Amino acid sequence: MTTSQHADREKFEHLRTTLETAGVHAVLGTTVNAAGLTLAKSVPMQRFEAFHRTGLGAARVWPVFCIDAAIASAPGIDATGDLRLRIDIDAVRDIGNGLAWAPADLRTQQGHSIGACTRSLLTDIETHLASAGLTALVGHELEFVLVAPDGAAQGGGWVPYGATGLLDQESFAADLLAAAGAAGLRIEQLHSEYGPQQFEFSLAPAAPVATADAVVLAKLLVGRTARRHGLRASFSPKPFHGAVGNGAHQHFSLWRDGRPLFGGGDGPHGLTLEGGAAIGGILRGLADVQGLLTGSLLSGARLSPGMWSGAHAGWGLENRETAVRLIQGGAPEGSNVEVKCIDPSAGVYAATAAVLALALDGITDGAALPDEVEGDPSGWSDEDRAAAGVPLLSDDLTTILAALDGSERARRLLGDDIVDATVGVRRHELDTYGDREPEEVADLFRLAWSI
Ligand code: GLU
Ligand code: MG
Repeated sequence: MTTSQHADREKFEHLRTTLETAGVHAVLGTTVNAAGLTLAKSVPMQRFEAFHRTGLGAARVWPVFCIDAAIASAPGIDATGDLRLRIDIDAVRDIGNGLAWAPADLRTQQGHSIGACTRSLLTDIETHLASAGLTALVGHELEFVLVAPDGAAQGGGWVPYGATGLLDQESFAADLLAAAGAAGLRIEQLHSEYGPQQFEFSLAPAAPVATADAVVLAKLLVGRTARRHGLRASFSPKPFHGAVGNGAHQHFSLWRDGRPLFGGGDGPHGLTLEGGAAIGGILRGLADVQGLLTGSLLSGARLSPGMWSGAHAGWGLENRETAVRLIQGGAPEGSNVEVKCIDPSAGVYAATAAVLALALDGITDGAALPDEVEGDPSGWSDEDRAAAGVPLLSDDLTTILAALDGSERARRLLGDDIVDATVGVRRHELDTYGDREPEEVADLFRLAWSI
């Protein structure tokens, strides 16, 4: 045994002993697929080592399981062959009640990473950033709506951003924060949102993969806590037709040699040249990757002007209507960029990978920073938008998927496998349910992205 193998074994044994001493008897490992679904396997503690070293068998269709349990077709994926679901033991958390959780990667049987594994993709993008001398900090905000176990709306009055909701669901909120604290999940705030029974949590900024892992853990704890209170949490982009949507806004900052790119520069609002190019890169490629950010059948319904969903394909300082909102200072981490158009039906790893890959692409070739959107564009006419060069993001899934499928940029930056898997699962949603009434689609898939 080499010294490093010895150290690895010692670390593993220490972790196993710590978990067993804490009463952990099973480990759950999760992966997020192209449809934004969280898939999992669990093992008793005796099989913890196998889950980490060799992984557990998973059919090759895992990346393309759809929101209705169908299997989409994608090149090279069929019923033959097998993958391995392998947990990352550096990210294991004791989540209480005898259960530990860990994020996992889908790999080949030989242990190689695969292009359709969204977590491996984000790991690669984090490595590309590091090779370019850049570090990213990412923080997520997730909105969800509490519903009855059968998906029915909860009654009662509601004050947007009110204290009322926090008291109505006081024991749920207290249990959620306690569960997060015990699992080492850094929830920065929890508040009631605009829509009835809608809540939001924000996660502390961290490295891209680590914070995407934290989103999965947070959704798991929200789902678990909701169940204990006889509830479920909807992470659908449009939980109820005609009502407020759920967003999954992603904040990020970029750093070179310890200096921020989104502050302290000579550009607009202190942007550095590279910070401006990162925003320029995102806006330049937004239509290419929209299928990874707002690509489900319910995503388009959320993207209307006036809903603070970032439906305008531009950027602005503290602008809640632009897809990219620059947030200046104030926060302890300094200025950051919020990509507001993302919704929770997107797979968190793939969506983060798409945003960061576009930002890096913009920095690499010095993408131009478009003019800022000044003021609230939600009342603009088509002519106003055309004059400003700020179109609305598409809300048409056929258009969104054709753009992704045909995008040389998306394929170059993210790889064919993830593009093809995403187009496959989302086209299935469109082909199967695209003709249904929006009310029915909202009802059918209200809990599709919940854990
Ligand atoms: N619910 C809005 C959305 O769909 C976001 C509201 C907010 O800005 O917090 O993204
Ligand atoms: Mg919000």
